[in-house]
Amino acid sequence: MSIKEQTYIMVKPDGVQRGLVGEIIARFEKRGFKLVAMKLVHATPEHLEKHYADLKGKPFFPGLIKYMASGPVVGMVWEGLDAVKTGRAMLGATNPLASSPGTIRGDYALAVGRNICHGSDAVESAKKEIALWFPEGIIQYTNTNEGWIFE
Ligand code: UDP
Ligand code: MG
Repeated sequence: MSIKEQTYIMVKPDGVQRGLVGEIIARFEKRGFKLVAMKLVHATPEHLEKHYADLKGKPFFPGLIKYMASGPVVGMVWEGLDAVKTGRAMLGATNPLASSPGTIRGDYALAVGRNICHGSDAVESAKKEIALWFPEGIIQYTNTNEGWIFE
């Protein structure tokens, strides 16, 4: 567990259309995570198939790619203590109906195929996803608040 751990968080096309980009960014900012990369992209199906390569063959895969390619997404890299696991906890369960109120999906979504936000599920997958979405790399800078966030 490191304060330099990074996770890939992405507002999906439904989250962008529904005006939830700012809300999702605000939750990660307020929790104390540091934004180290961000972009708005309308991804191609080929790119999304790489992102979701592990799910190829699942019955929902074609619909998932179509949904994810239906509009722009906001991809971000957030850095901080236990970022991957904490990011997943902030997102809630894959199926929003099983997500607790207080989580992003539990507060803003109802359907598994319209669950508004993605978060890496492990440090290894975060590394792969960050390399896929930010081949140009992330931004290095000092957050002067760090002494108030970490001991
Ligand atoms: N998904 C779906 N139907 C399912 C399972 C997943 O439409 O039965 C979609 C859903 O949008 C989910 C995405 O596929 O977020 C990726 O699935 P994964 O199991 O990786 O869930 P996540 O990591 O996003 O919670
Ligand atoms: Mg996943």
